[in-house]
Amino acid sequence: MIKLTRIVESLPSSVPFVGPETQERTNNQKFLSRLGANENVFGPSPKVFQAIKNSVNDIWRYADPESYDLKVAIGKHENIKLENIVIGEGIDGLLGYLCRLLVAPKTSVVTSKGAYPTFNYHVSGFGGNLHFVPYKNDYEDIEQLIFKAKIAKAKLVYIANPDNPMGTFHSRTVIEDLVDNLPEDLILCLDEAYSEFVPKNELPKIDPSNPNVIRMRTFSKGYGMAGARIGYAIGESKLIKAFEKIRNHFGINILAQRAALIALQDQDYLNSVMRAVNISKKQIMTIASECGLKSVKSLANFVAVDCGRDASFANSVLQGLVKQRIFVRMPFFSPQSRCIRISAGKPSDLKRLEKIFPKVLNEVNASKSF
Ligand SMILES: *Cc1c(COP(=O)(O)O)cnc(C)c1O
Repeated sequence: MIKLTRIVESLPSSVPFVGPETQERTNNQKFLSRLGANENVFGPSPKVFQAIKNSVNDIWRYADPESYDLKVAIGKHENIKLENIVIGEGIDGLLGYLCRLLVAPKTSVVTSKGAYPTFNYHVSGFGGNLHFVPYKNDYEDIEQLIFKAKIAKAKLVYIANPDNPMGTFHSRTVIEDLVDNLPEDLILCLDEAYSEFVPKNELPKIDPSNPNVIRMRTFSKGYGMAGARIGYAIGESKLIKAFEKIRNHFGINILAQRAALIALQDQDYLNSVMRAVNISKKQIMTIASECGLKSVKSLANFVAVDCGRDASFANSVLQGLVKQRIFVRMPFFSPQSRCIRISAGKPSDLKRLEKIFPKVLNEVNASKSF
């Protein structure tokens, strides 16, 4: 009999997210609007498409394992040194490496109840002990996260800013204060997957050589390249260097590597996407408010629409939309799970939502179970 490791044997056989493709296969029906995974429906710059096309003939090669050119471009863009950057297979991949570096069996780790679940999945995969802090008014509760980290003697605390699934954003000063007051033996993993959606001067300024902070960035959201699987982390050179001991050196594919570099250089396109996303978010909020529902103010590329009742009600609304071939998701835990999370869409997606959302809501309201 093959025996898995004790840690793996003890893990539940669940995954952080079930893909929309799985639902399509189960329901034997394709989605018409894909607004559930916070993908950027506007996609990358036309220059990125061109860069990918130009690289296709090199697909036989392994990509540069150091992603040197991309690192130089990121260094220039962020005004930081190369020794403070590691490239990885999206934030999800980098979170896995970070946990492998820091989390041993029973290591204490703190996160928010109902925050981005892929992080937890990696922590558990290395046998770490997760401690959870509830959200406070739809925000990750920074004060309590640090309090809990101290009590649990945690090594690692995870905060996403802007947050997923609520889209709320802690101001620059709040995060800078947090960084200034971190306990010496605690590392903050600051997941900034949605940083491009935040006005530049509102992002916290953090010294990249601070040994207590590692920031995560991705080309999946703002830059519209979720399928390319590429992101980066910014941190102290010693910690960044440690990734070299364990990372998958040829994990970055050559098309993604070159595409990311070009994406970074086309900031005009990025700005145009930000405008389109903001318009779309406003429309989602308008559609909700015309149905008498509030939305949570979001600085990401999605809106959490408060369905006004409990999780089971929100879930019925979600199922109604899914049945009408609109893919959306909802938070996993109360009180966030009173909401459904709708990603910014194209005008055609919004038109569909505008038509279908009120109907679904009426149906659920009229059903006997509520
Ligand atoms: C979407 C998302 C990610 C995933 O990023 P990838 O680079 O695609 O792995 C990570 N963190 C948060 C908070 C996200 O919402």
